[in-house]
Amino acid sequence: MKNLLRPAPLPRGLAEAFSRAGFRKWYERELLSSHAHLVLAFLSLVAVFAALEASRGAATADQLANLVYVLLSAAIGAWALRRYLFLLTRAEIVANQAQCQDCGEYGRFKVVSPRTGGDEAEVCCRRCQHRWVITSLA
Ligand SMILES: [Zn+2]
Repeated sequence: MKNLLRPAPLPRGLAEAFSRAGFRKWYERELLSSHAHLVLAFLSLVAVFAALEASRGAATADQLANLVYVLLSAAIGAWALRRYLFLLTRAEIVANQAQCQDCGEYGRFKVVSPRTGGDEAEVCCRRCQHRWVITSLA
């Protein structure tokens, strides 16, 4: 159970993601991806209600098929909702650490080195050269 609650490491690692696209682009992509999962969760909910509606007054075989559709749509919806919350939470956790504590510059830093298997990155402020560690772990 503990592994299910712990956020999965980024596929490429935080440092590589920041180096490739920059923090602001990474953050924008995380928000877009998370909200795409929210749309999928909503569509799954619509599919659940459509299958429930279709099973009213249907033959037993059709009701069983619709039950399978309901369970499948509910499983996809639950996964999509969980993924939405995970991506949004991780983006916000990282965004809350993106401000330089010395000069207050937000989101303008360069990666110095990756840490802890990709979950953390040591970064350096582009304005004042202050260094700090950004982590995607809660
Ligand atoms: Zn700074």
